[in-house]
Amino acid sequence: MEALIKMGEMKIDGFINPGHVSTIIGERAYEFISTRYKVPQVIAGFEPLDVLIAAYLLARQIRTGEAKVENEYARVVKPEGNEKAKRIMEAVFEPFDVSWRGFSVIPGSGLRLKEEFAKYDARKRYEDDLSELSCDYREPEGCRCGEILRGLVYPADCPLFGTGCTPQHPIGPCMVSIEGSCNILFRYGRHRIGV
Ligand code: SF4
Repeated sequence: MEALIKMGEMKIDGFINPGHVSTIIGERAYEFISTRYKVPQVIAGFEPLDVLIAAYLLARQIRTGEAKVENEYARVVKPEGNEKAKRIMEAVFEPFDVSWRGFSVIPGSGLRLKEEFAKYDARKRYEDDLSELSCDYREPEGCRCGEILRGLVYPADCPLFGTGCTPQHPIGPCMVSIEGSCNILFRYGRHRIGV
């Protein structure tokens, strides 16, 4: 989220924060974003009503000029998160630099097993096999997933949407996953845009 803001490609009016991640890291982990960048945030659950309430709370913050973290998913997410899970993660993993789809390398944005757990590390255990695979992800030609993930364009702005690229024959990752923006628009909204 901070990398997205720092890229400065678009003005972000607010974030709807993911319920599952927030269950572990808690509300407080997000506070620096609102404090430092004056961006409103709402942690949301997964039911349609959760998302609707989150949009309402965000709109309310924007209207009143506030920038804070609100927790719509309080039935699951606690301010401090899951302390036990956080302790275990801290004991087992360490941060490292990772290249994300649509972004360049974001320093310290990934987690890997610490040296003392190296024997469980698939990256090390299967190093030879993995060396044949490229970890340097490149979008297929014409695919605009990276820009979609950064909120710069809509799926329908991709010339391949619904023509060359469909859930049955996906070209890019946003059409593969049922959580992908292109996949969702294809299944639920393409009739509205005449594709
Ligand atoms: S997943 Fe398909 S429709 Fe979506 S941006 Fe990539 S090529 Fe275009």
